[in-house]
Formats: sequence, structure tokens, C-alpha cells
Amino acid sequence: MPASTHSPDAEKFVVSRKALEALPLLLRGEGYEVWAPTPVDGAITYQSIETLTELPVGRSDQQAPGKYRLAAREDRALFQYASTPQSWKPLLLPPVNHFLTIQETSDGIEFHPHPPPLQRRALLGLRPCDLAAIRVLDRVLQEDLHPDIGYAGRREGLLLIAVNCGYPSGVCFCASMGTGPQARDGFDLALTEILAGEHRFVVTVGSARGRAILESLDHRPAEAPDRGAEDNVVRSARENMGRALNLENLAEAISSESNSKQWEEIAARCLSCANCTMVCPTCFCGTVEDHNTLDGKQASRTRVWDSCFSLQYSYIHGGSVRSSPAARYRQWLTHKLSTWHDQYGECGCVGCGRCITWCPVGIDLTQEANRLRGAAAWGGI
Ligand code: SF4
Ligand code: SF4
Repeated sequence: MPASTHSPDAEKFVVSRKALEALPLLLRGEGYEVWAPTPVDGAITYQSIETLTELPVGRSDQQAPGKYRLAAREDRALFQYASTPQSWKPLLLPPVNHFLTIQETSDGIEFHPHPPPLQRRALLGLRPCDLAAIRVLDRVLQEDLHPDIGYAGRREGLLLIAVNCGYPSGVCFCASMGTGPQARDGFDLALTEILAGEHRFVVTVGSARGRAILESLDHRPAEAPDRGAEDNVVRSARENMGRALNLENLAEAISSESNSKQWEEIAARCLSCANCTMVCPTCFCGTVEDHNTLDGKQASRTRVWDSCFSLQYSYIHGGSVRSSPAARYRQWLTHKLSTWHDQYGECGCVGCGRCITWCPVGIDLTQEANRLRGAAAWGGI
């Protein structure tokens, strides 16, 4: 398991940009499939890679509510962009997961479960907020009373190489959520990309596996200027977060505003498209589908992502409990920021900002939550 919590004076090393090029080959030699950010069709997506040249070299992004664009940089930076459109969630919790086939045979029926593939994957370029999101999913899907065997199996083989954030976008608010811009725990290695002076990476080791990988790369101990440069990157990211969420009494305030007129106001704009839940790295809801072949000899059971924004998601014995868009948005925001605490003892949001960027009408969770909090303080709206 990765990793321990790191104090600011943790042991640190430096790997040059050139030396880092050996990393994908090294990881593949250790039996890992390497996944990393890659530009595809005008967006940065996570793909299986063979070399660092597949990363978004000299690319950045611009994000705002309902807006996303790639932009060119004048340097050869590898990790200077904010949240990707989709998180790492599909690798751990596939959108379509076939887990059982039932086959009629001449002797009766046979059950063929589909266990998760025994894959070792190295995830290179995890943002601290995405690392925090994986910990949230671990709590829900792996550490609760009924672990999800598929999730646990995929999680088991992961090597996590985080990259501290040097380029937050206008919709990021991880600093106010305590989940970034610097990774504190849960990683095997954490890199900070330094562009001032020599292009290099300050590396923090988070596990024995991480240390073994670092030992195979050309590296040196970090010196005071390297540590200072890392501090500058993190400080600048923290100071340039586009948004903030005030967490003080927020969970109580949102629950107390269940009858607020604000839900109807949001619903007047909300399309119930479910984009926010599809891109959210902590949304985990799904539904189960059974399919039969036309001859009736084979059946399969599949779990697919679902969303609290779909009408059928709350369908029980004759009707949907949350029949209006207002009720569905209220459910989503209240669960994320309030009742998640009751269920799991923490917040369901890590401040990645994806739900803001990918909302086609630009509904902003931070704005709505801060407004509800203010309304609760004044006795409701
Ligand atoms: S609710 Fe929005 S900001 Fe929070 S984790 Fe989900 S997508 Fe990111
Ligand atoms: S809040 Fe935005 S992204 Fe979410 S369902 Fe409504 S319109 Fe779609």
C-alpha cells in the first residue's frame, strides 16, 4: 500500500527532465502498464503511454464555467494544466462493467463471473485532488461493510505517481478543501515540476515501491534552491486558485436549507444532463442491467454508471422519489457537501472543479453552496 503522510521537511530528491524520460520504460520493465495525461481531440485525457513524448508537452488549458480550451505554452512543460475532463475514475470503476455471464448448457446452467483483470498499472501525473478522490472512493468502495470486489482488485495493482499542481485553473478550489495543491499522502512518488532554471522535478518518496523506482532513475538529493523552488510552485498555485469554498458550518447550513427557493432557481437553469456526476471523481452511483440473448440461452449482468440526475435513478414501486430537477440538484449538492459527512465522516467533494467546467450552462457548485450558507446564516431564502 502507498504511503505515509509527509511532513514539509520530508526527504526530497531531484530528477532532471532528461532523466525522467527513462521512467515509462522502467515502469513497463517492472510489469506496469503506464497511464498518463495525453492530448487527444483537443483535450487532455488519460491514456496508456510508452514514452514521455506522448504527454501534453508545452500545452496548457483554460477553464471557466462551461468552457474548456487547450492552449500552447512557450516552454516544454509536461504537467502545466489543471483538471482533465475525466478523472482516473474509469480505470477503477469502469463505466460499463460486465461481471457475470450465465450460460445454458446440456447439463443445466453455468455461471461465469468476470473478476477484475490482474493488471499492474502505474498512474503518472495524478493531481493531489485526484489522489484525494481515490481515497474517497477507497472509503466508499473498499473499506465499507461490503467491499466492491472489482474496485478493490483494480485498486490493488496501482502505483501512484502524483504531480503537485503548478497551474490551477479558474474553477479549481482544492486549497479551500484541504486536498491540494500539494499531495500530502497516499502516493508512491510525488513530483513537483520546476521550470525556473534547469527543467527538473523535485521528488518526494511515499512508499518502499516508490523508493525502489527512484533508485533506478538518475537522481540527486534536493538542495535548498530546489526546495525553495518547490515551495514557490506550491505557493503560487495556492494563491491562484480561481475559487474557494467556505467549509465552516457548510454541511449543517446546506441540510437546513432543504426548503430553500434557491433549488428552484438552480433547476430553472439545470438541464438534468448528469455531466457533473459523470466527470466528478467521487460520484460512484451505478445501476445494474441484465441482458438475455434472443434464444434465451445466455444472460449477462452488467453494472453501468448512473446518476442522481436521472429520473429513473430514484424510481421505487411506481414512481420516482425525486421527480423534479430541483429535487435532483438538491440531492446531489446536499450529498456531496453535507450528508456525505454523515455517511463517511468526510466531504464528498475534493475541489477539482470539473462539475463547473463541464456543466453546459455553467452552474457553479461553489457559488451555490456559498449562497446557501449565507442564506442559512440569515434564516433562509
Ligand atoms: S463535486 Fe465538482 S468539484 Fe467536487 S469533486 Fe465532484 S466534480 Fe470535483
Ligand atoms: S448542474 Fe449542470 S452538469 Fe449538472 S445536471 Fe445540471 S446542467 Fe447538467
